[in-house]
Amino acid sequence: MTSVGQPAALAGEHADWLARLEQNISARSWSSNLQSIAGKLMENQALTLEDGMVLYTHPDLHELGALANCVREARFGSQAFFNSNVHINQTNICVLACKFCAFRRGPKASDAYAMSVDQYLADLEQYAHAVDEVHSVGGLHPDWGVEHYEGLFRATKEQFPHISIKALTAVEIKHLAQKSSISTKEVLRRLNEAGLTSLPGGGAEILDDDVRAHICNGKESSEEYLRIHREAHEVGLPSNCTMLFGTVERLEQRLQHMISLRELNDITSGFQCFVPYPFLPDHTRLPEAQLATGTEVLRTIAVSRLMLNNIPHIKAYRMNIGDHLAELGLQFGADDIDGTVQKESIMHLAGSTAPLDHDRTKLARLIYDAGCEPVQRNTTYSSFEVYTPPPPPSRRPLPMAQG
Ligand code: SF4
Repeated sequence: MTSVGQPAALAGEHADWLARLEQNISARSWSSNLQSIAGKLMENQALTLEDGMVLYTHPDLHELGALANCVREARFGSQAFFNSNVHINQTNICVLACKFCAFRRGPKASDAYAMSVDQYLADLEQYAHAVDEVHSVGGLHPDWGVEHYEGLFRATKEQFPHISIKALTAVEIKHLAQKSSISTKEVLRRLNEAGLTSLPGGGAEILDDDVRAHICNGKESSEEYLRIHREAHEVGLPSNCTMLFGTVERLEQRLQHMISLRELNDITSGFQCFVPYPFLPDHTRLPEAQLATGTEVLRTIAVSRLMLNNIPHIKAYRMNIGDHLAELGLQFGADDIDGTVQKESIMHLAGSTAPLDHDRTKLARLIYDAGCEPVQRNTTYSSFEVYTPPPPPSRRPLPMAQG
């Protein structure tokens, strides 16, 4: 693997990862119900929904994790990725009211806010020396159209040319198109021109319109989410994709969600990373949610790695699942833990306790302690820097195996 400036198409992967995968999988024996799946993986065949059910219901969680890790190691060796970023949520005012959302406010709420361009830039300035990405998502502001974001992104690039802008979920793109009476593709084209680097994947929830009607009525449909990401890829904007699980969906709906994303990526190759994260219930309106356990989070990370054979990166999103589970996620098929973040409201208002004071040394230490080699990446997974953290000032080593 190269250290800096690898072609984006490889996204940090070993060019011969399929040959490595065959070696990894053949090196051990697998339970009888996993053998045909292991065979398909070695040939890079897409797994079916039925295969996914076998994985989700396989009794041995550790064997499932080992299979997922065969794929991760074939693609990336022992390397795992992070970046130096900051989250700035530009407004919490939203015309919708998704039941799982603890972040949105009505315009008259005492703690409603909408940052002006100058306020946004002043906020970013505090972190600009230490980050190369700003991640911005927010509510659907009733007065902001595409012109507002063109101005914001142009000003950001002018003042901080080294910072990539990863911003706006599919529903925000749809809202801007409605406000400005243009197509979603035109919104994407104009924002790309203004400096937008990529789209985050938020808002996918579960790509099933019955589930969506229950948990986020009024949001974009499954078809619209997929169409907007396809359009982003067509205008040259890479994107990520997500899955919010542990609300009211069934396992089949999670698997169909993954298959829909995979089928789109067969056409566009524009998804860089898949981010599965569990619903957090604080200050939300979904008492009927089944909520996901820690083992279910790990199982879902592993299943995602195995189902999504054409999306290179699987993220253990520490902002949502916390540092300890993210560390374990790296043993269950994930290869990325996201970034320094520094400021975050959406997950924390819903109950996340993930620390926000991590600099790159702390993040690299987390990856290192999980038995992996930390690699700092840029937003588009096209340049990489191996970063070995200095040892912590005080640590009493115990005679345990690493990783
Ligand atoms: S999830 Fe997004 S669209 Fe839904 S209420 Fe929250 S801020 Fe608004």
